[in-house]
Amino acid sequence: MSKKLRDSDMDPIQYEWEKKHLNVSGLNPKDFKYFEYDDPYVKNEIVKCSICGKAAYQDQYGNGGCPNCGWKFSKDEEAFEKDMGISYPMLVSPTTAREQYKKGLPFKATFEEFLNGLYFYSEMLFKYDGVMYEVFLKGKDMTIVFCSKDFQQEYKTREEFSAKANINGVLVKDLWDKVTFAGFMYCGETE
Ligand SMILES: [Zn+2]
Repeated sequence: MSKKLRDSDMDPIQYEWEKKHLNVSGLNPKDFKYFEYDDPYVKNEIVKCSICGKAAYQDQYGNGGCPNCGWKFSKDEEAFEKDMGISYPMLVSPTTAREQYKKGLPFKATFEEFLNGLYFYSEMLFKYDGVMYEVFLKGKDMTIVFCSKDFQQEYKTREEFSAKANINGVLVKDLWDKVTFAGFMYCGETE
């Protein structure tokens, strides 16, 4: 268990959460003590959300989420951003996410973060104008395939994809502001 979570300032917050989620009503808050759960994935550690600063909850592996801002995170988020320029499972980097949170915007990866994600996960999705598009890496030479039900485009490099990938002639990077979802394939919201 992370030591900072057992900070006495956090106890009342955790108590409130336990009361809500784990049926400890009737227990005197002063008598409340940390309880070890059998479920290894239960999010029973409180951490400060790296995006909004409110209480977030994580399991013993460091995977968790924030009920305030909706951020989901995995272990070593900062190191992962440093290495890959993204986060998992949200895709959007924590740095970008903090800016978006401040502006009251929903979390969404930038075009460059989306491409960073492609080279981490190999299969990506984004939604534009109600249509879901796939972008994935194919073969040893890692050809970038960009497709929907109606078309397929292939690009040799990231740079070529950035310069040429388009939907009905409009470059993907130029319509990215209107993309409503961008993420790892079959990971998170796709509707
Ligand atoms: Zn948060």
